[in-house]
Amino acid sequence: MTSYKHTNLALRELQLSMPGMPASDGDGVKMTRIIGTPQLSMLDPFLLLDAFGSDQPLDYIGGFPNHPHRGFETVTYMLAGRMRHKDSIGNEGVIEAHGVQWMTAGKGIVHSEMPEQDSGLLAGFQLWVNLPSKDKMCEPKYQEFIAQDVTVEKREDGSQVRVVAGITDLGSIGPVQRHDITPTFMDITLAPGSEFNQQIKSGDTAFIYVIEGHVLVGGKASLLPTKQLGILEDGDHVSMVAAPQGARVLLVAATPINESVARGGPFVMNTKAEVMQAYDDFRNNRF
Ligand code: MN
Repeated sequence: MTSYKHTNLALRELQLSMPGMPASDGDGVKMTRIIGTPQLSMLDPFLLLDAFGSDQPLDYIGGFPNHPHRGFETVTYMLAGRMRHKDSIGNEGVIEAHGVQWMTAGKGIVHSEMPEQDSGLLAGFQLWVNLPSKDKMCEPKYQEFIAQDVTVEKREDGSQVRVVAGITDLGSIGPVQRHDITPTFMDITLAPGSEFNQQIKSGDTAFIYVIEGHVLVGGKASLLPTKQLGILEDGDHVSMVAAPQGARVLLVAATPINESVARGGPFVMNTKAEVMQAYDDFRNNRF
């Protein structure tokens, strides 16, 4: 009889890498759209990933004035600068560098997301995470954490992991919870030449986005350059090695929802009729 050790994990190799494309959204905010493009319409359960980053105020100062969402979650994670969030039912807050807002739009929210500064660097990400059919019309809710409440794991090799969601192999747990798709969301600063390993459940969707430097991914040491999205093959474990000058990456994973997706701008439902209903509800102030 053959026995397998639990430590005999299947490495996730790099399946595909791609750059994002320049885009503009809100009131003229310039950004790079990484997921939600003609090349990559979605990566179930992820519907969209935008990276914004500029030290030119004209690129971002218009912000995202009042707009609705229904049927999914928006995750805003800032690297630099501040974004003020205000919604139609009185919630308001400022997301600062290394802070996160994980917003469940559910049945509907109308909000604005505005840079609070008018000079200096503004940088961050917005990720859209789908909700399953049974939760699309849930009450809106927030999981919002300032930088000090996001778990920071400092490793012996000098690397540092900011854990927004999920659990590292060393046991650090991020504050954001979503029980159905058990997301992983980590901002990983790798020391020069260091190796990083992380278990990710087999069957889950997983990707790496390189913020700075570059990494070599998996057993084949596939190069993933700066500002590129790397989609990982299935397996239960990711391994990467940082460039000689170090690297910074986002590692994101979650369980696919495997339902039909109907999109209409800020509404993501299961059917076109539900999207039309969302437009109708919004126009008639039923949000
Ligand atoms: Mn929004």
